[in-house]
Amino acid sequence: MKLCVYEVRPDEEEMLHALEKKHEGLEIVKTGEVLNEETIALAGGCVGISTLGQSHMTRALFEKMAQMDIHAYSCRCIGTNHVDLEAAKSLGIKVANARYSPCGVADYTVMLMLMLLRRYKPALWRQQVNDYSLGGLMGRELRGMTVGVIGTGRIGLTVMQNLSGFGCKLLCNDLYKNPEAEKFGTYTDLDTIYRTCDIITLHTPLLDSTWHMINERTIGKMKKDVLLINCARGELMDIEAVTHAIENEEIGGVALDVFEKEDGIYHHDCRTDILKNRAMAYLRQFPNVIMTQHVAFYTKEAVDSMVVCGVESLLAFAKGKEYPTEIV
Ligand code: NAD
Repeated sequence: MKLCVYEVRPDEEEMLHALEKKHEGLEIVKTGEVLNEETIALAGGCVGISTLGQSHMTRALFEKMAQMDIHAYSCRCIGTNHVDLEAAKSLGIKVANARYSPCGVADYTVMLMLMLLRRYKPALWRQQVNDYSLGGLMGRELRGMTVGVIGTGRIGLTVMQNLSGFGCKLLCNDLYKNPEAEKFGTYTDLDTIYRTCDIITLHTPLLDSTWHMINERTIGKMKKDVLLINCARGELMDIEAVTHAIENEEIGGVALDVFEKEDGIYHHDCRTDILKNRAMAYLRQFPNVIMTQHVAFYTKEAVDSMVVCGVESLLAFAKGKEYPTEIV
């Protein structure tokens, strides 16, 4: 049985080889290319295709897959906003995403909160030039603060569990109440979160209803020194509004592991490229802005799990079986 795995990173290869050994007769075509209408030819003779998040899974690509008699697709990530699920469904193509422990992203989220609170970025800059002064580095403590968690799914809930040891008050919001989250915090409306929280962290998927949920209007309701954390999707924030708020000191700081229009930049070495994301280039200069290249998920445990889900879901679909991460 042959599968084609796109966007393969070197850190995935060990597990891909291990899976080839584990499943007799399995052959995996491995390529670093993103999947598009040209590179799809690499999947000739395969029963399933897997990608990461940089391949835009459009209706046209799913139609091409169907023409090639490929009826199984897996993305080796949690977020599926790059996948036209309706198109896959209408063409009878089964789709799975990946599942991995929420701890990596949740731990990273708390780390970003602490880095902002303790002004870690300017402290690090100073260390590197032998400037050991204290001025401007006074931090704040989590104890006594109110933290708002928007989205109490797997990651948001784990953030709340993590934070429960810090002595802060936790407010949260979701379309559905999770009884587990109620052990650590109190559900409330978004307005109350915006108006009362010292730190707000986003853990919803990117949907029409969550696109640009942080914007000029919602920022206008927030405390002047609020810290905003985004380890979910860049497009949850109107980055122009966030930039304006940082420039005008209307918020205390932001930590962003994801960024609007990060595709083609994050996860690539772009040192010799002309980058056209102005907001990204501009925002990163500020001492109260921390930006990382979509790495919150990136642990050994998570990567292994993503590869296993990506490959084993395709094998299950090809054999007419179900798989726990099936979404279409
Ligand atoms: P999840 O599906 O378990 O939880 C998402 C929660 O958001 C659900 O409880 C859902 O009801 C809630 N939600 C949906 N729309 C909402 C709205 N309008 N208002 C309030 N809540 C809403 O997902 P998860 O595993 O916790 O992941 C959350 C997001 O984190 C993913 O969708 C993905 O975009 C992002 N993510 C980022 C990284 C990274 O490396 N930075 C890694 C993994 C996931």
